[in-house]
Amino acid sequence: MIQAKQFSDSIYTMSGISKKTIEEHLKLYTGYINKYNEISEKLTLLTDDDFSKANQVYSHVRALKTELSFAWNGVFNHEIYFAHLGGAGGMVSGALSDQITKDFGSFDSFKRDIKASALSARGWVWTVWHPRESKLINHVGDTQNTYAFWGATPILALDTYEHAYFADYGVNRGQYVDSFFENIQWDVVEKSFDAIQK
Ligand code: FE
Repeated sequence: MIQAKQFSDSIYTMSGISKKTIEEHLKLYTGYINKYNEISEKLTLLTDDDFSKANQVYSHVRALKTELSFAWNGVFNHEIYFAHLGGAGGMVSGALSDQITKDFGSFDSFKRDIKASALSARGWVWTVWHPRESKLINHVGDTQNTYAFWGATPILALDTYEHAYFADYGVNRGQYVDSFFENIQWDVVEKSFDAIQK
C-alpha cells in the first residue's frame, strides 16, 4: 500500500496555472495511487485459473501486469511534477547549472529543448541524468509509461497531457510550458540532481 504525498500549498497560488487546474489534477494523481494499490492487491489474489490462462493477447495476468506499470508511473511522474512546482522560477544554480551549461550550452538552450520536447510529446517530458554518458537528456513519453530510458534517473517532469493546461490555455501548450518555468522550484530539481551524484 502506498499513500498520497502532500505538496506545498504554493502550488494552489501559482501564476498561469490555476488553482482549479491543480485541484482537478491532484484528483488524477490520487486516482493513480488508488489504482496502484488496487492492482497490487489483485496481483496477490491470482488464482490457479488465472495462471493457467496467462496469455499475451489478453489475460487477467496481462492486464494487471501492464496496468501496474501505468499506475505506478502515474504516481511517480506526478510526484516529481507537483514537488517542483509552486516556486518562483528564475535561474537554476549550483552543480546542476554547470551541468546544464555543459550539456546544452546555456540555460536558455536547455529550456528551449524542453519546450520543443513538450510540443513533441503526447504525455510527458523528463530531464534525466544518464550515468553511462554522465550527461542530462530531455526525453519524451506519450503516456505515463512509454519510451522508458532504462538506467537514467529523472530530475524534472513536465506533464503535457491536456488536463495539465487545457482549462487555462486551450490548445496553447507553449504558453503553459512558459508558465511551468515561471513556477518551478529550481532548488528542488537541484537537490534531486545533487542526490544522484553521490
Ligand atoms: Fe497529469
